[in-house]
Amino acid sequence: MPELPEVETVRSVLAREVITKKIKLVHVTDGRAVRRHKNAKDFRDELEGRTIKSVERLGKNIVVGLDSGRHLVIHLGMTGQVLRAKNAKEPKPKHTHVVITFTSGEELRYVDQRTFGELYVSTPPAEGEEVEVSKFARLSIGGDGLELRRQVPELAHLGIDPFEDQVGWDRFAAVLRSRTLALKTLLTDQDIVSGIGNIYADEILFSAGLMYDRVSESLSTIEIRRLHRTIPEVLTEAIKHGGTTLSDEMFVNPDGEMGTYQELLQVHTREGLPCYQCRSPVAKVVFHQRATYFCAKCQG
Ligand SMILES: [Zn+2]
Repeated sequence: MPELPEVETVRSVLAREVITKKIKLVHVTDGRAVRRHKNAKDFRDELEGRTIKSVERLGKNIVVGLDSGRHLVIHLGMTGQVLRAKNAKEPKPKHTHVVITFTSGEELRYVDQRTFGELYVSTPPAEGEEVEVSKFARLSIGGDGLELRRQVPELAHLGIDPFEDQVGWDRFAAVLRSRTLALKTLLTDQDIVSGIGNIYADEILFSAGLMYDRVSESLSTIEIRRLHRTIPEVLTEAIKHGGTTLSDEMFVNPDGEMGTYQELLQVHTREGLPCYQCRSPVAKVVFHQRATYFCAKCQG
């Protein structure tokens, strides 16, 4: 499932390619991809004739700003892909659910084999209406996250985004100490920390030297500072490598290119292989129905 680095990889290509472009036509071939709208026409009407002003990200969501003041939100779900095409003649992949055609003739296609992903145009809050923003995100002292949540109420529940919300280690410590959750559960709970999923939780916890099932409130100050520092470090490296494309998954960027961070994974998918730090075999357990990889020697 695409996590923050993969979604950020898609965002950066879109930001380069579609800002200032005007949407001419929208074609929906599978209504499940726009299921929040009462019908496909309602979705089309929000987009046709609109110019794209910005492409941002919050958690695992791509947030496309329109000149109407509204936002198109794209969530890739398990297998969603956003692909560019130079024109309508380029063959459409199987499972193409939505096609956005720009006045230039170029297209953006939303392709999703399993259709857990979705697209919707968010309705901004009415004037004077307060949006209930996540109490964890409200710890932020800077970044664009709070403003995005106020403009897109559907995303207001999202917890701390490691890049869009600035939360210092001391406030992060308060979050950890307020919960009695296993670290992996806490890191992958989108209402506490947004953007991290199964792959990067394993990688972050290995780099921080912490076991997946350590209870969050049990961490020492040194451990909290290390975890707080490691989260953006691991995610930044993964973004630099265009994200992770595992063999059984379908992540590609809008130009159809796979990520390369799978070659740099320290523990995830490496069951039985020697740990790069200590040479003992990487272990795998199923924790809360998710495959979890770790080094029992390096993580404590
Ligand atoms: Zn090790």
